[in-house]
Amino acid sequence: MLTHTISKKALHYLQLEEDFGAHNYHPLPVVLEKGEGVFVWDVEGKKYYDFLSGYSAVNQGHCHPRIVKALIEQAQKLTLTSRAFYNNLLGEYEKFMTELFGYDKLLPMNTGVEAVETAIKLCRRWGYEKKGIKDGEAKIIVCADNFHGRTTTVISFSTDPLSNSKFGPFTPGFVVIPYNDINALQKALEDKTIAGLLVEPIQGEAGVVVPDEGYLSKAKQLCEAYNILFMADEIQTGLGRTGKMLACDHENVKPDILILGKALSGGTIPVSAVLANNEIMLNIKPGEHGSTYGGNPLACAVAIESIKVLQEESMIENADAMGNLLRNELQNLNSPFISTIRGKGLLNAIVIEHANKEAAWELCLQLKENGLLAKPTHGDKIRFAPPLVISKQQILECVDIIARSLKDCLS
Ligand SMILES: *Cc1c(COP(=O)(O)O)cnc(C)c1O
Repeated sequence: MLTHTISKKALHYLQLEEDFGAHNYHPLPVVLEKGEGVFVWDVEGKKYYDFLSGYSAVNQGHCHPRIVKALIEQAQKLTLTSRAFYNNLLGEYEKFMTELFGYDKLLPMNTGVEAVETAIKLCRRWGYEKKGIKDGEAKIIVCADNFHGRTTTVISFSTDPLSNSKFGPFTPGFVVIPYNDINALQKALEDKTIAGLLVEPIQGEAGVVVPDEGYLSKAKQLCEAYNILFMADEIQTGLGRTGKMLACDHENVKPDILILGKALSGGTIPVSAVLANNEIMLNIKPGEHGSTYGGNPLACAVAIESIKVLQEESMIENADAMGNLLRNELQNLNSPFISTIRGKGLLNAIVIEHANKEAAWELCLQLKENGLLAKPTHGDKIRFAPPLVISKQQILECVDIIARSLKDCLS
């Protein structure tokens, strides 16, 4: 039985968005006004566990005091110079990041999809300058069920009709192969015009699809053998989410091009980055690519602090331990309505099995009633990805909420 309610106050905000906002999202009917750590509060003051973490942008927890402090202090000093001038933080940030991740150079952008676009341009340019592909012919291999963002080029190689129907014509030059299929990759690599592979180490939006162990390392080896670039989109999987700094670290794979976003600012402002070595990065010359806000001092201050917080507060180790606990405890529920539990670290999903096609959505409404926010993806999957600061006792309380909600709603 569904018991969820929407207050008059909340309805007011729902109605405002309905009336004056574009209808490009379908949110859960909850209106939030405050966040702290693993918790968010709605306009009635009701407290919830946040099991989405802004699609993993809020790995460090909501309104982390150190990140907020860095944001405020820098905001009072200097926020934007544009790249027409130097600022005193960009170089510091680039040095910090390249040393940490082991690359020669960083290119700063803002949103995730801009970083993906940047990686695509870098890859194509490398293909022409270094690999000798004929101008205009470079192709990039991508995987089915990918999610890399929403620009016209990036949806050109989406396989989700929701993302790209009636948005064409599209950008050519992409070859789609099945995810987690090494043979398909090897076959695709025979094409001499391939410049790179763009891949998510775990497919987040597809419903936390974890490839077989060894897939990433084998894919990387093949890319090396065929002299093509391995580009990892770690926008959702990176920065501690899966229990390592990068999801590629689980297989000791170092991407040729590393794409970061989301938690790079701990959920405060859009900050993304592309990392690569000189051989790739220096093929783009002054004036050939850029962004007004990319590399702004506010973003640099926030990004440095966001990474330091992850490391200095042991959030990555905690994600690993709490992820194992969460999956074990969910398994122990033995719920007939959960057909699959999968994930790594604190990037997890369950697949709901129920006669009612709306079961996952209704379970999320029930979870909300019981004080936990999660969102279904692709119908029957629900992502469980709380901030990395969650404690053992909180995980156990959340599993209790999930167990109760399954009973309340689906039995
Ligand atoms: C969220 C996401 C993006 C897009 O990031 P935006 O900031 O929304 O543009 C790209 N790739 C992956 C894997 C993501 O999860």
